[in-house]
Amino acid sequence: MAADANSSWGLRFITLVALKQSPVSGDLALARGGWVKLICGASNQDLPAISDLCAVYAAAGVHCVDVAADEAVVRAARQGLDWVQSQWGYRPWLMVSVSDGQDAHFRKAWFDPQRCPSDCRRPCQRVCPADAIAGEGGIHASRCYGCGRCLPACPLGLIDLEDRRLGLDDLAPMLAELRPDAVEIHTAPGRAEAFQSTIAALMDVQLPLQRLAVSCGLEGHGLTVHSLARELWQRHDCLRRYGQRPLWQLDGRPMSGDVGAGTARAAVALWHGVRHLAPPGPLQLAGGTNDHTILHLPENDGPAGVAFGGMARRLLQPWLQEAQAREISLRDWPEGWCAAVAKAQKLVRPWLSR
Ligand code: SF4
Ligand code: SF4
Repeated sequence: MAADANSSWGLRFITLVALKQSPVSGDLALARGGWVKLICGASNQDLPAISDLCAVYAAAGVHCVDVAADEAVVRAARQGLDWVQSQWGYRPWLMVSVSDGQDAHFRKAWFDPQRCPSDCRRPCQRVCPADAIAGEGGIHASRCYGCGRCLPACPLGLIDLEDRRLGLDDLAPMLAELRPDAVEIHTAPGRAEAFQSTIAALMDVQLPLQRLAVSCGLEGHGLTVHSLARELWQRHDCLRRYGQRPLWQLDGRPMSGDVGAGTARAAVALWHGVRHLAPPGPLQLAGGTNDHTILHLPENDGPAGVAFGGMARRLLQPWLQEAQAREISLRDWPEGWCAAVAKAQKLVRPWLSR
């Protein structure tokens, strides 16, 4: 469905207003503390939604979109970014996420619906933030991003999580194919050797990366801020050996769903704790980040930027769902596009103007 002339002008206008907020490159934004990244989800494979999410947040001015290291996902993300670039000449970096070991971000839930009692009221469905659990059936694997919220919701314990990491042997060929602008490695304590092997595989591909991001947090690892800083220094030494420029992603509360002021505090508290102990390189908040995050930061001080995941996706859910129901892209539905960009802009703008 094509936009009519008036709607198309409305769409162009609102997006131009949004893009006026993002005149700086990713590097400059990191230096100024105004960097913003969209996290689509390291396991999210909902291609139409990813394409539209990337387009909307690129139009709102984010500096980077972070997606699964998966050919179809990267193609969908590029479609959204290509479209924004063709309309307004602006293009954020495309980052793909990988992991050097087991990680909550790289898994998917599943259950066999045939085992569910017919009178089950499906609490699993109600708690899923990605609408990945179908009316009568099981889990849409492409939509599930492994947050794990449905597991405790099932009274019969029928739901399991599967590890969906890219193996080390597949990493180099996959990255050679995808050719992203940036890569993020999710790491955890005690995995310095696995991290080194992952970097070595990555360097084999000789990609001209804008940044190599390292994501790590305290939760679930039994770390203190001091031990986390030690781990980051180990990663830093490794990155230096390979001449890579790091970007440290502080994962305040992994897979939190970003539901309120409480989750926002976790990432800010982590930044406060680690900021004077961490190795050189920009520190960026993630995990539990939402529209409250910026309110917890001092006015003239703060991290290099922020990444929005669950909240960024949830904000656009009504329009993404409606577009999917109409079997069109949000880009071909001017009213939906304008409303979605305005929502995204509201989340992103306070950071872009820092
Ligand atoms: S609640 Fe989370 S883990 Fe469960 S199906 Fe939904 S996205 Fe997947
Ligand atoms: S809550 Fe458990 S039993 Fe009920 S539909 Fe979900 S997986 Fe099946």
